[in-house]
Amino acid sequence: MKATHYLSRELPAGLELLLELTTDLRWSWSHAADALWQTMDPDIWSQTRNPYVVLQNLSEERLQQLAQDPHFKQRLETTAQAREDYRRRPAWFGENYAQAGLRGVAYFSMEFGLGNALPLYAGGLGILAGDYLKAASDLGVPLVGIGLLYQEGYFRQSLDRAGWQQEVYPYNDPTMLPVVPVFSSAGNWLHVDANLPGRRVRFRIWQARVGRVTLYLLDSNDPLNSPADRGITNKLYGGSHEMRLLQEIALGVGGWRVVEALGLDIDICHLNEGHAAFAAIERARCYMDRHGVDFHQALWTTRAGNIFTTHTPVSAGFDRFPAELIFKYGQEYMAGLGLDFDALLALGRLDANDRREPFNMAYLAMRTCMKVNGVSQLHGEVSRELFNPLYPRWPRHDVPVDYVTNGVHVPSWDSLWADDLWTQAVDKQRWLAEPEPLSGAIERLTDERLWNFKGHERADLVTYARERHRRQLGYSGASAAELERAGDVLDPNILTLGFARRFAEYKRPNLLLHDEARLTRLLTNNDTPLQIIVAGKAHPQDDAGKCFIQHWARFAQRLEVRHRVVFLEDYDMALAQELVQGVDVWINTPRRPWEACGTSGMKVLANGGLNLSVLDGWWAEAYGDDVGWAVGDRENHNDSRHDGLEAEQLYRLLEEVVVPEFYRRDANGIPRAWTARMRASMARLAPQFSTNRMMREYVMRMYLPASEAYRLRSADEGRLGRSLCRWAERLRHHWQGIHFGNLVSERHDKRQRFEVQVYLGDILAEAVQVQLYAEQEGVSEASCALMQQGEPIPGSANGYVYRVEIDTEQAAADFTPRVVPHNDGARIPLELPLIKWFR
Ligand SMILES: *Cc1c(COP(=O)(O)O)cnc(C)c1O
Repeated sequence: MKATHYLSRELPAGLELLLELTTDLRWSWSHAADALWQTMDPDIWSQTRNPYVVLQNLSEERLQQLAQDPHFKQRLETTAQAREDYRRRPAWFGENYAQAGLRGVAYFSMEFGLGNALPLYAGGLGILAGDYLKAASDLGVPLVGIGLLYQEGYFRQSLDRAGWQQEVYPYNDPTMLPVVPVFSSAGNWLHVDANLPGRRVRFRIWQARVGRVTLYLLDSNDPLNSPADRGITNKLYGGSHEMRLLQEIALGVGGWRVVEALGLDIDICHLNEGHAAFAAIERARCYMDRHGVDFHQALWTTRAGNIFTTHTPVSAGFDRFPAELIFKYGQEYMAGLGLDFDALLALGRLDANDRREPFNMAYLAMRTCMKVNGVSQLHGEVSRELFNPLYPRWPRHDVPVDYVTNGVHVPSWDSLWADDLWTQAVDKQRWLAEPEPLSGAIERLTDERLWNFKGHERADLVTYARERHRRQLGYSGASAAELERAGDVLDPNILTLGFARRFAEYKRPNLLLHDEARLTRLLTNNDTPLQIIVAGKAHPQDDAGKCFIQHWARFAQRLEVRHRVVFLEDYDMALAQELVQGVDVWINTPRRPWEACGTSGMKVLANGGLNLSVLDGWWAEAYGDDVGWAVGDRENHNDSRHDGLEAEQLYRLLEEVVVPEFYRRDANGIPRAWTARMRASMARLAPQFSTNRMMREYVMRMYLPASEAYRLRSADEGRLGRSLCRWAERLRHHWQGIHFGNLVSERHDKRQRFEVQVYLGDILAEAVQVQLYAEQEGVSEASCALMQQGEPIPGSANGYVYRVEIDTEQAAADFTPRVVPHNDGARIPLELPLIKWFR
């Protein structure tokens, strides 16, 4: 398979390497070649930080010059060699799991935030996906990404003079993006099709290179498609409901077809959020075709290799489509599956018989994946509650949702100062090694060193923010006097807070503005002032979010605070990088438990920034009183009256703890308590909340077991998969026949004996387990003991006595026997949520 470039001209002999180097997005986190790009064109480099754009804009004359420059060519060779070394170097995965049987992972996501050079993201979900690919590359995990190439992507933001958000949609010209067409083995540009009513839509396939990882991108903008279909991959989260469904068909069905068309050796299909869940259906369909089994048998086999990561903390966040839409677009497809319409819809419905119920993509993902996880410990709990209705009569803690807390790809977010500091303290490989707390290494850094380091970072941010602020004022037509003043906003010696995120209601972006006078006093205190940089976009259809932005923009224009508050427009990855590197304190004030995880706060850790945040998402598990500050009481409060209380808490923390600690200096000018906190946060939290730790967890806890399960189920033409399918059908059919007889219990001191009669009817005893279940006071874990099958009940057909004896202080009445399906090869209740309680 070859992939040629799209650059319309030949590069001079000796410079061909430039193309490969500038289209490998590894440059976005390895800064080793920055000086090289700068040499090529210092202006364009400083403006874009994108070597591919630099290359494309070089004049022929400049190219020839470089081709004649032995020094340049030498550096180019060295850079290419370093890239080769990186690609070949044995990495964590290969060193530990080369023989473990994991062949390949296809990671599906609606968005990928790899950097501004490839703007295919809106927010946290995309940034996570981008960081994920980079971590897979660093650790050598055999993974490909599958996504969509949007012509316009997510909107770019500017504010008008009144502080109201304006949206613009610049065109992503693919010839300007570091992507290249993928060619098929027949030598033409690779396409995959999706069947839609009355037509086939073609998707052109592009690829982006992310170190060792390839990201495949589908693009419907093909002249052979109808004008409307050409727009399927136009905007990210911008179109109608129907357009959203088309995009999800493109990603799921089209995406899996890319895997098939390229013959990729994939055993794991990983859905980053439910958007991509059609991939699991298409995977099963391909399996059906290949092995001549029916859809359910194919699903039982392939499900073992499917993984679903949910990011949604409230059920309103799930993607739902009306049944008519599914029918319109799924009709022909269903025929190919041999499924009737209701059977397909049942996969996305709570109640298969409720004809009004919409089709829920998260439910579809739950039913087609064998491993499911939330993205923080708290979000795991929240998700178990959200998905509990799919497992009727099962207690919440049995709901099969695990969690893997997100992390950030540190080399993509650390400052050059931080890179330098960590390299001295630890080494260059620190984000690839075992993610243990780096206490020893960071302990050795003196307070002076830490404080100096933070000072450099803060000064850089102030310079950047002034420049950007001035530019944005210029665009809005500000007067010369205003522009002049822009150079004086902010101060490199003042405690600097950062607040940047999507301006959605649940993020409560104006909690800090709850009492403007009080905030103003904090900002303008003579001895211990504060400054704050704010950024963030509201969804184009979210007027409430735009009002929050306007509130901040107007506040920032006030005479008394305008030198202390700056709203920077067009929050994106480049701006996020500057902010997380420079701020002293990162503020996050979501309404718990709506922040599934949140990752922006993790980005400040390696940079010595501290978090002041509501105990939600990742902060609920990361917080300790030596590493940062917490707002909230670990409870969920679903009413806005509570906002006032939390705002009060936020102000008090700032007034009484944060500000004094920052300004309490010793004779050498060092705030010792502050630097101690920086040290603890850096040493303990930075390694823990990195993608290095996260990717290892996904590999060890999800990918390896899933690939093993898939291998077992698919072995021997899917024998186990088929037999599990039959086993499940039998159980479903006869389940109602199970009933209980007497339950007796006896106590001997601390030991409690239970004995219960169970009539299994047409179900074999080995197909079930009888368990003794009790919830425990004040403990989230329940107790669940296996009851042993004893003698048959006289005169019964398939009735047995089951017994167990346990040590417990709890009353016998707390314990209830239950019957659940049992099969070593199946995951219960995920794959078969049957249960029968004694009462
Ligand atoms: C990291 C990041 C996010 C996600 O941050 P949250 O903590 O979820 O708010 C969103 N947008 C950009 C540009 C980012 O860099």
